[in-house]
Amino acid sequence: MRNISKIIDGKRVIIKKPELLAPAGNLEKLKVAIRYGADAVFVGGKEFSLRSGASNFTLEDIKEAVDFAKQYNATIHVTCNIILHQDNLHGIEEYLKALDRAGVKAIIVADPYIMKIAKDLDLNLEVHVSTQLSTLNTKAIKFYQDLGMDRVVLGREVCYDDLKIILDKTDIDIEYFIHGAMCIHYSGRCMLSNYFSHRDANRGGCSQSCRWYYDIFDSNQKLNEGKIPFSMSSKDMSLINHLPELIELGVDSFKIEGRMKSLHYIATVVSTYRKLIDDYCSDPDNFVFSEKYYLELLKAANRALCTGFYDNQADNSKQLFNQRDEHPTQEFCARVISYDKINKLAIIEQRNYFRVGDKIEFFSPQHENIIIPVTKIINEENEEVAVANHPMEILKIPVDIELEEDDMGRKVI
Ligand code: SF4
Repeated sequence: MRNISKIIDGKRVIIKKPELLAPAGNLEKLKVAIRYGADAVFVGGKEFSLRSGASNFTLEDIKEAVDFAKQYNATIHVTCNIILHQDNLHGIEEYLKALDRAGVKAIIVADPYIMKIAKDLDLNLEVHVSTQLSTLNTKAIKFYQDLGMDRVVLGREVCYDDLKIILDKTDIDIEYFIHGAMCIHYSGRCMLSNYFSHRDANRGGCSQSCRWYYDIFDSNQKLNEGKIPFSMSSKDMSLINHLPELIELGVDSFKIEGRMKSLHYIATVVSTYRKLIDDYCSDPDNFVFSEKYYLELLKAANRALCTGFYDNQADNSKQLFNQRDEHPTQEFCARVISYDKINKLAIIEQRNYFRVGDKIEFFSPQHENIIIPVTKIINEENEEVAVANHPMEILKIPVDIELEEDDMGRKVI
C-alpha cells in the first residue's frame, strides 16, 4: 500500500506528488516543457532511440538539457528503446557511459541486452523498462524488478482496476500514460509500417500506416464501394478527468506522449496537467473538478480525445474508423520574447498568420489566460502593419498586462 497523504494540523495533505513527465523533440521544446511545469522530460538520442524523425538530441544537446533542467530541479530521461538487431550492437556501452557522464537521470530501454549492460556497467543511470515491452501485470513487473530495473513504464492497455492491483502489490516505481496518441496495436508489437513502407516501427521508423486510408476487399468485391475509405486510427488518450483518482492511487510518474508534437501542444498540455496536479494536491478534500482543464486541452488537441483502455477494453467509440479526424492546430500565432513595461508592448515571434482586429489568448505557467484584441502590429522597421504574415518575424503589439518570456498566444477563432 503506497502512502499518499497524511493529516497535518487537521487537514489532509498529499505527501506523494506524482512526477509529471513530458516529451520533447528538440531543445526548444524541452525548455518550454520545463518552464511550463514538467518535473522530468524524456528525449531521444541520435542513437538507439525510437522516433528517429523526432529531431533527436546529440550528446551536446543532452548535456545542455541536463544543465537547463537542473536550474528547475527537473531531470532528463533518454530513450534507448529500439529492439536491437545485430548491426545495432556496436557502441552501446560507450553511449551509456556518455549519458551517465552527462548527468542523465534515467534511460528507457526495451532490449534485454541494454538492461543487462546498463546494470553491469554500474552507472548512476536508473534503468526504466519501456512501454514497448507491454508490461501489464504484477508478475512481469516483479520479473523486471528482480533484474534490478528501477521503474516500469506500463503498457497503455492497463485499465484502472489492474493499475490499482499493480500499485497495491508492487513497490517499484510505476510510470503510467495519461495523455497522447494511441497505437491500434499493442505499442511496440506492430509490423504494419515494416510491411507497407519498409520502415521499422521498433527502430524508430513508424510511418503511421494504421492511419492511412484503405479500400477493403472480400475476394474481388470492394466492400467500401461508394463509401469513404477505411482507416484504423485511434482517438488520442486523455485521462484529465481521472487525474485525482490516479494521484490517490499513488502512481509515481504521469507520462505525456508526443516527442513529435509542436511547441504549442507541449506548452498547453504540460501546463494544464501541472495546474491540475498542483490544484488537487494543495487541498485534495475540497478540490472540485472544473471543466476548464479539459477545455484547455482541447485547444491543442488535433484528434478527438478518449480514455483509451482506462475503463477496460477500448471499443468502437475509442476509434476513428473511416476517418482520420486530424485537424492540426492552426491558431498558435505568437511566442513572447519579452515585454516592454514602459510602452506596454509585448515583443513576440510570429508563429502563424494574424491581423489587426483579431483576438489573441495568451497563456503562461505564471498567470491565468488573458484575451487581448490586436489593435496595432509594429514590425522590426518600426512600421505599423495590418497583418503578421512572415513566420518567425519579430513584432510588437500593445498589451496592457505584463507578459513573460515564453508565454504563448493563440488566435481566438
Ligand atoms: S502503424 Fe500505427 S499501430 Fe503500428 S506502430 Fe505505427 S502508430 Fe502504432
